Amino acid sequence: MTSAERRAALEAVAAEVRTCTRCRLAQTRTNAVPGEGSPDTEVVFVGEGPGHNEDRLGRPFVGRAGDLLVKFLRSIEWRREDVFITNVVKCRPPDNRDPEPDEIAACQPYLHRQLAVLDPAVIVTLGRHSMGRFMPGARISQAHGTIAPADPATGAPDATVFAMYHPAAALRTTAIEEQSYRDIEKVPRVLLDARARRASNRPTSAAEAGAEATEPVLAPDTTLFQTT
Ligand code: URA
Ligand code: SF4
Repeated sequence: MTSAERRAALEAVAAEVRTCTRCRLAQTRTNAVPGEGSPDTEVVFVGEGPGHNEDRLGRPFVGRAGDLLVKFLRSIEWRREDVFITNVVKCRPPDNRDPEPDEIAACQPYLHRQLAVLDPAVIVTLGRHSMGRFMPGARISQAHGTIAPADPATGAPDATVFAMYHPAAALRTTAIEEQSYRDIEKVPRVLLDARARRASNRPTSAAEAGAEATEPVLAPDTTLFQTT
């Protein structure tokens, strides 16, 4: 897929999300929040669900948790527009309650399609509910800062999953905030390793991707994007 095709495919998903009534969260939302970011990125961040500010603006991670996520990204010299940011459920659960299993199930096709279009090398899960989609059975206290292969059934054909605490948990607890800075520090390396693994699995593009994967340092602005 070309960049323009990915952009159009993501916009088609977003348009469906904005008018979706597949679960009860449609009745209480102000705006659905499909997600946003670069159609060319290799890294997708997946949160839990929109909060108050996200519901008001129709954009993901634009409140206090979002500000902290941007700080985490800045600490590795990445910007939010370089990655793709979305959520497990696209509409705000009332009073910020946890999403119910049937709501997660109803919304799952949208995340699935976004991941299929983006084909990310790395999925960073933010919090328990997102981790639960990609690392079933894992405990966040153990799994944060670690990787696992993404189950292709999630929509991502060939991704490495990296788990982090939710930024809202980091806002509540200083130790979690400090741990989150240490965890995100690993992400550029996880991306290089994921990229190298994918290149070696895909002989047709190995020459091109392999050349890039040997770069020792991740220059954030230039290497966060796929070359196709
Ligand atoms: N928390 C989330 O999980 N997602 C958002 O978009 C904002 C806050
Ligand atoms: Fe549709 Fe997902 Fe919103 Fe439910 S949460 S109404 S499934 S977009």
